[in-house]
Amino acid sequence: MMEEQFRTEIASLGEFGLIDHLTKNNETFQASTIESIGDDAAVIDQFGRQTVITTDMLVEGVHFDLMYTPLKHLGYKAVAVNLSDICAMNATPTHITLSIGISNRFSVEALEEFYDGVYAACSKYSVDLIGGDTTTSHKGFIISVTAIGEVAPGKFVTRRGAQVNDLICVSGDLGAAYLGLQLLEREKQVYLEDKNMQPDLKDHDYILGRILKPEPRVDIVEWLAEKEIVPTAMIDISDGLSSELLHICTKSGVGCVLYEDKIPVSDEAKAMGMQFNIPTTTCALSGGEDYELLFTVAQADYEKVAKNGNITVIGYITALDEGANMLTPSGKKHALVAQGWNAFG
Ligand code: ADP
Ligand code: MG
Repeated sequence: MMEEQFRTEIASLGEFGLIDHLTKNNETFQASTIESIGDDAAVIDQFGRQTVITTDMLVEGVHFDLMYTPLKHLGYKAVAVNLSDICAMNATPTHITLSIGISNRFSVEALEEFYDGVYAACSKYSVDLIGGDTTTSHKGFIISVTAIGEVAPGKFVTRRGAQVNDLICVSGDLGAAYLGLQLLEREKQVYLEDKNMQPDLKDHDYILGRILKPEPRVDIVEWLAEKEIVPTAMIDISDGLSSELLHICTKSGVGCVLYEDKIPVSDEAKAMGMQFNIPTTTCALSGGEDYELLFTVAQADYEKVAKNGNITVIGYITALDEGANMLTPSGKKHALVAQGWNAFG
């Protein structure tokens, strides 16, 4: 998948030439960017707002498979998942740095494609790329993104503030990214068994988009600010609803009731769940990579939240000794268990 007609060797540019080449059209969207790429460090002025910082590393073969991940999508996703962490703090992303470990297996054109995706995400969310590092990796492609965001003083939201009787809310829908991944894995196996087989991916745009091109919910953070709602706790869904909800419960010292039939699932995910014979509840609870926001709000905010079609109330917070449970439509109670992705599993 990494063949292309023109192939410029990285060696022909050298490290500094490559950095210049990849960043020569870098745009600046934020007034707070005082010094960007080109010096020993960048300078940001956050104008009295509080600064939120997060970093994430993506490793080829662990977090992504270049057989079915277009480089442009990979660049977009590497940025998007970091912006999602900033959103999960109720902050607005403003800047990123991007470090890459690459081998000569990549051509300059391949890296340009990757950066096209990076710039597409930066431009969509008005985030400035202000630095990074470039190094050699002999063990596959390594990507490290650091994202910086800003928030009004004291308005950031942690995982530890959920209170008994708070409502549990989630943005968008869940489980689709996992089903998209199952589809890509299935078509990869078909292709590996018979190289003449073309992957059958048509009519699955939504679930494929969910795994290949996730979007950080900057819109939800903006909406919450507009409606003057400050969630009591918040987290983004990278590992699965179950694991993220347990994080909030553990950190807040509370329990919860989650209603299975309230978990939002798209029609396309339902159809694909049937095809793969995987319950969509399982995909939502343990699939992960949906990058939606999971948050708790005081009951007083119910009216406001209920009016937003992109937010679903899926349960409520209980006392710690009631445990963390899911209620099925028939009224059965299941203890929630974290089956999220385990980095060392
Ligand atoms: P230093 O030797 O001080 O680390 P570098 O030569 O690594 O400087 O980087 C020069 C400039 O280019 C710095 O502003 C750095 O942040 C930026 N930079 C380096 N690699 C990348 C990259 N892959 N993407 C974006 N900016 C980069
Ligand atoms: Mg450097």
